[in-house]
Amino acid sequence: MINHEFKCRACNSQNHKMILDMGELPLANAFVKEPTDQDDQFIWPLSLVMCQDCDLLQIKDEMPREKLFSNYLWVTSTSSSAKKHAEWLSEHLWVEFGVNSHHEKPFLVEIASNDGFFLEHYRDAGFDILGVDPSNLAEEADNRGLTSIRDFFGKKVARHIIETKRQPDVIVARNVLGHSSELQDLVEGMDELLPPDGVMILEMPYAFMLNYETQYDTIFHEHLSYLTVGSTSNLLARYGMKIVNAQFVDMNGGSILCEVRRTEHPTPENHHALLSLENLIHLNTPFGWRNFSANTHRQRDELVTMLQKLRADKLSVLAYGAAAKFMTMLNYCGIDTTLLGAVGDANPRKQGLLCPGVRIPVVAPSALMEMNPDYVLIGAWNFKDEIINYLRKEFGYAGKFIVPLPLPEIID
Ligand SMILES: [Zn+2]
Repeated sequence: MINHEFKCRACNSQNHKMILDMGELPLANAFVKEPTDQDDQFIWPLSLVMCQDCDLLQIKDEMPREKLFSNYLWVTSTSSSAKKHAEWLSEHLWVEFGVNSHHEKPFLVEIASNDGFFLEHYRDAGFDILGVDPSNLAEEADNRGLTSIRDFFGKKVARHIIETKRQPDVIVARNVLGHSSELQDLVEGMDELLPPDGVMILEMPYAFMLNYETQYDTIFHEHLSYLTVGSTSNLLARYGMKIVNAQFVDMNGGSILCEVRRTEHPTPENHHALLSLENLIHLNTPFGWRNFSANTHRQRDELVTMLQKLRADKLSVLAYGAAAKFMTMLNYCGIDTTLLGAVGDANPRKQGLLCPGVRIPVVAPSALMEMNPDYVLIGAWNFKDEIINYLRKEFGYAGKFIVPLPLPEIID
C-alpha cells in the first residue's frame, strides 16, 4: 500500500510543493540476475517535493528501508576519483582536527562507512576509527580489520558507541543525510554523539547542482533528501548544531562539505557565500525550481530523439557506467535494448546482471569495447572525464561519446 500522506522527514510538516513528478519507476538498484527474476517489476512513485516549513527537498513517497538496502551493489572503492578524494579528505581532517588533538589517538566515527574504503584512509592518517553501516559491506570492512558496526546509525547506536568507547573527536558522514529515511533519529544520534568541542563533517550532493544542471537522474528511491546549506542549517539548528564552514567539492557531480559544530562552540559561522547564493537564486523556495520540471522533460525528449535518430542511421550506441542515477534516467526516458545494446561497468558485482526495468545487460568494459560501438552514452556522467580517458587510453576507443546532461551533447 502506498501511503500518499506526506510528512516532512525533517520537521513533520505536511505542507509541501511539488517540484517534479516522475511517475512510477523501479528501484535503481534492483539489478536482475535472471530474466525470470521479478525484483525490478516492483515500481513505486518517484516525485520531488519541497517542505514549505523547513525548505527540505525530498522524495514524497518512501519505501521500507530494509527493502532499499537489501541488494546493495555500490562499492566506494571502484572509482579512482573516490580514491583521490579519500586521500585528500583524510589528510585534511588529520591536519585540521587530528594532529593537534589533546588525545594521543583522536577518535573518528564514520557514519555509513560502506566497505571501509575511507575508514582505511582515516586510520592510516592517524585516527582511531570506528565505522557504522547497515549493509553487508560493514562485515567485509570488519573482516579487513576496519572495525565496523552493522546497523543504521541513530540514537541507539550513538549511545552504544559512547557506552563502549567514548564520544568521538571527529564524526564523518558522507552522503548520509540524503539517504536516511529516519532523518530525525539520525540527527538526534549525531546530536548525542557530538561532544562540546567535537567536529562533524557532512558531505552531500549539492542540490544547487541538481537544479543548475538538471541532474534529475540523481533523484531515485534510495536518495530521499536533496540538501542545500540553507535546509541543512535549518535541520541542524533544531538539534543544537550549526554549520561553521561549507565548501564546494567536485564529487558526485558537485557536493558540499560542511564543518558542523555545537551551537555554543566559539567557532563563528562562515558559510555566508553559499547561503547568499542560495538566497539570490531562491534555491530554498519553490520559485527557484520553477523551470526544473520543464528542463527535465526537455532532456528526456532530446535524448530519446537523438538515440532514435542514431538507430535510424544504423549507428550503434552502447553506454558506460551502470550507476543508480543512470537507471533512473533509462527508466524515466523509457530507453531499453532497442535503443541501447549494453552498459559497461568496471564493478564486477554488476557485470552479468540486467538493468532494472529496461533489462539492458551490464558487461565488463572489455566486452563493451569488443562490441565496437559508434557512440558511448556516459551513464555515470559525474565520472565523465575519467571514463573518456579510460576508454580512450585503455582500449584505444576512437568513437564518440554522448554526455546526457544538462542536455544531450556529442563529444568527438
Ligand atoms: Zn520540513
